Amino acid sequence: MASIDYHKLSSALSENGRLVTDPAGYEAYTHDATADTGVPGAIVLASNANDVRATVLFCRKHNLAIVPRGAGTGLSGGCVPSEGALVLSTEALDDIEIMPDERTAVCGPGVITRDLIDAAEAVGLTYAPDPASYTESTLGGNVAENAGGLRCVKYGVTRDYVVGLQAITTDGSTINTGWFTERPTFEFGELLIGSEGTLAIITSIAVSLIKPIGRGTTILAAFGEPSDAARTVFALRRAGLVPTVMEFMDGDAINCSNAYEPTEGLHRAAALLLFETDPRHHDMERLIESICTDNRCTVLRAEPDPHRAEDLWRVRRNLSRAITDMAALRVSEDVAVPISRFADLVAFVDQMNHSSDYRINTFGHAGDGNLHVSFLSQHDTSRDRENIDSLVEILMRKTIELGGTLTGEHGIGLAKRRLLPLEFDPPTLQFMRRIKDVFDPTGIMNPDKIFPV
Ligand SMILES: Cc1cc2nc3c(=O)[nH]c(=O)nc-3n(C[C@H](O)[C@H](O)[C@H](O)COP(=O)(O)OP(=O)(O)OC[C@H]3O[C@@H](n4cnc5c(N)ncnc54)[C@H](O)[C@@H]3O)c2cc1C
Repeated sequence: MASIDYHKLSSALSENGRLVTDPAGYEAYTHDATADTGVPGAIVLASNANDVRATVLFCRKHNLAIVPRGAGTGLSGGCVPSEGALVLSTEALDDIEIMPDERTAVCGPGVITRDLIDAAEAVGLTYAPDPASYTESTLGGNVAENAGGLRCVKYGVTRDYVVGLQAITTDGSTINTGWFTERPTFEFGELLIGSEGTLAIITSIAVSLIKPIGRGTTILAAFGEPSDAARTVFALRRAGLVPTVMEFMDGDAINCSNAYEPTEGLHRAAALLLFETDPRHHDMERLIESICTDNRCTVLRAEPDPHRAEDLWRVRRNLSRAITDMAALRVSEDVAVPISRFADLVAFVDQMNHSSDYRINTFGHAGDGNLHVSFLSQHDTSRDRENIDSLVEILMRKTIELGGTLTGEHGIGLAKRRLLPLEFDPPTLQFMRRIKDVFDPTGIMNPDKIFPV
C-alpha cells in the first residue's frame, strides 16, 4: 500500500474534494457504531459525483479496496475499513431538491435523514422512514442498509420509498435507475438497496414523499413479565391494529434507561411497550389499552399532547446511550422473527440473560418482530469477545429455528458475515456472489463485507 502515489488522485479531485492520508486526520473514519475498527490507507471526502468517479477509477487501477461511508452510525461494521483500504465518504453530497407536485425528493447520499424530513415538512409533506439514528445517519447509508425505524411498522422501510438511484460502478460507469431514466420500472435499482456498499457507490437518491403523518396519542404500558408484553404485541397485530409506533423493551433495558435518567413508575417493570396511535383511527387508544389490560399490564399511561409525550419517549430515546454506558464492551445484534414467534424470542433472550455470565438485554421495533439484543461485558478482552461471539451464534441459531432472519435492519456487514450460511444455503450464497461479480469483477468494493470468508 505504501507504494501508492496518492498525489495523482489528489489532483484528479475537484476543488472541494479532499484526500486525507495523515492518520491524525482520520480517526473518526476507522470505525462505525460497533466495536470493530480498521486502519485505512487514505480517506476521500468527495464533494460531487466526479470525485466519486475519479476515486473509483484510481482504486480500480491500483486494485485498492474501496469502503463507501456515510455518517458511520452503522451497527454491523459495514463502513469499517479493510486494512489499507480507501474510505470514500459521500457525506458532503448533501443537496436536497423537493418537487412537491411530484411528491418526490432527489437527494445526495450525504443528506442527513432528519434534514430530508424537515425539508419535506416545510412544503407540507414528509419522508416516512425514521431510523432511531435519523439525526445523524445519511440517506446513502439508509439505502445501503435498507434502514427501518420506529414508524416502519405502519409505513414500511427505506426500500418502500426509493423510486430511483444513480450509482457509480468500479469501471466509472453511471447506473441510472427508476426516476433517473425515461423508463417507468425500477427492478434493477432494487439490487442496490441493502447492498451494504458492496456493489457500487450511490451518488443520487430519488424518494417518494407522503402527506404528513400527524401525531397520535402516546401510550406507555409496563408489564410484570416479558411474556405478557410479547403476547400483547401478537394480540394487537392479530386484532388488526397497526399503531404508528410499537416499541418493546425488556426489564434490563428499562433498568439501563432508568439508571441513565429515571422514568417514574418503571422501577419494577419487567417489560415495556410504547405506542403511538394512528391519529386517523379514533378508537385505537381504547383498543390498545384494553388489550394491554387483558394481558396483565401493571402501568398504563396515555399522553395525547406530543410535547408532554416526550417525557414518556425519553425512556426509549436514551436507551442506546444508556446501554452503551453500562459496559466496557457492548455487542449489539438485530434479529427479526415472524410476529407469531416474537414471544418465543423474547423468552429465549430472557433465559440467555439468566443463564449467562454476561448481561444480555433486548428492545426493538416490536410491530415488525424486530429485536435488538445487546451483550454487555464489564471487560473488553479477546476472551470476552470470543465468549460473546459464541452467545451471538446461539441467538442466531434460535432466530433461524423460529423462522427469522439474522438482521432485521442493521445489515450483515463485517459483524455477521461468518453467520450468513446459517440463513442461506450454498447455492443461494453462490448466486449472490455472482451478482456481486457482475457489478464488481475485480472485487474491490467493500470486499470484506457480507460474504463469509
Ligand atoms: C443510536 C442508533 C440508533 C439506530 N437506529 C436504527 C434504526 O432504528 N433503524 C435502522 O435501520 N438502523 C438504525 N441504526 C443503524 C444505522 O444508523 C443505519 O444502518 C444507517 O442507515 C446507517 O447510515 P450511515 O450514514 O451512518 O451509514 P454508514 O454507517 O456510514 O454506512 C453503512 C453502510 O452503508 C454503506 N454506504 C454508505 N454510504 C454509501 C453510498 N453513498 N453508496 C454505497 N454505499 C454506502 C457503507 O459502505 C456501509 O456498508 C442505528 C444506529 C445507532 C447508532
